[in-house]
Amino acid sequence: MERNCLFCKIVAGEIPGSFVYRDDEIVAIEDVNPQAPTHLLIIPVEHAANLSRFVEAAPPALVAKLFGVVGRLGSELGLEEYRAVVNTGPAGGQTVGHLHVHLLAGRQMHWPPG
Ligand code: 5GP
Ligand code: ZN
Repeated sequence: MERNCLFCKIVAGEIPGSFVYRDDEIVAIEDVNPQAPTHLLIIPVEHAANLSRFVEAAPPALVAKLFGVVGRLGSELGLEEYRAVVNTGPAGGQTVGHLHVHLLAGRQMHWPPG
């Protein structure tokens, strides 16, 4: 656990989160400021600052599992159409420095993203 990391604190239960999935390695919570009718954040339990750091440090099976959970949650929630996004670094739009995959659904998405 990384001190002063918001998502480490949510995973540890120090800050409340609305969990929709949880196992020893991956959690999914509802985004506190949803940008679509469904807006989940799929988060590895172990701290990784961003996607690049995660793929350097995590076993490949965990990298695969993270995206497996994204797709499975989509199926289990009955979402045929959605957007999965990983903002990476400030210029990529990342504001919380603990890797998370956004799962957004329930409205028309647009391209290019802002
Ligand atoms: P990023 O901008 O890093 O890609 O995404 C961070 C996301 O975390 C944002 O969508 C933001 O709404 C969400 N967020 C920020 N603080 C909290 C919080 O305390 N709880 C939850 N559930 N989501 C948060
Ligand atoms: Zn963290």
